[in-house]
Order: sequence, then structure tokens, then C-alpha cells
Amino acid sequence: MCAACRTNRNKRELIRVVRLALPKDAPKDTVPALVIDDKGKLNGRGVYVCADVGCIKKLRKIRAVERMLKVQVPETLWEELQCRITTTTNS
Ligand SMILES: [Zn+2]
Repeated sequence: MCAACRTNRNKRELIRVVRLALPKDAPKDTVPALVIDDKGKLNGRGVYVCADVGCIKKLRKIRAVERMLKVQVPETLWEELQCRITTTTNS
């Protein structure tokens, strides 16, 4: 389900953003990495969002990722998401 518009969709139509699980011996102040999970096989908590500009914008505005995964979303990740959508639309 998309975290922005709450629509149930096929996983193929959704982009999964995953907060990678930290190693057990990681220092307490380690910031967990957020990555886009293209294959849907990464371990960690994830948030789904439609491959749609409107949903990405909404996701950012309502801070859904921050609330659900308790981690700051770096600007680079938003840029990467935008890239994914552009690429998907063009193919
Ligand atoms: Zn959506």
C-alpha cells in the first residue's frame, strides 16, 4: 500500500524505500541508511510509495517516511526517487 495515497497497488507499481538494518555492533549514533529497494529483497523496515510524482511529493510533505521509519530522509533520496519515476515513465 502506498504510504502517501493509501491505495493498494501491485508491488510492481510501487517503489519500496528501506531502512537498512544496522549491524549489532554499530555505534549508537549511527544513522541508518535509507535506500531504494529495486528488487524487494532487502532486509529492514520499508515504506511503499506509488511510482508517481504526486505521491512522492505528498510522502515528503506529510513526512510519512520520517514517522514510519524514524529516520531523516536525505535530499539525495528524494532526488533518486524522482529519477526512478522519470526513468519508469520513459520506458
Ligand atoms: Zn500513492
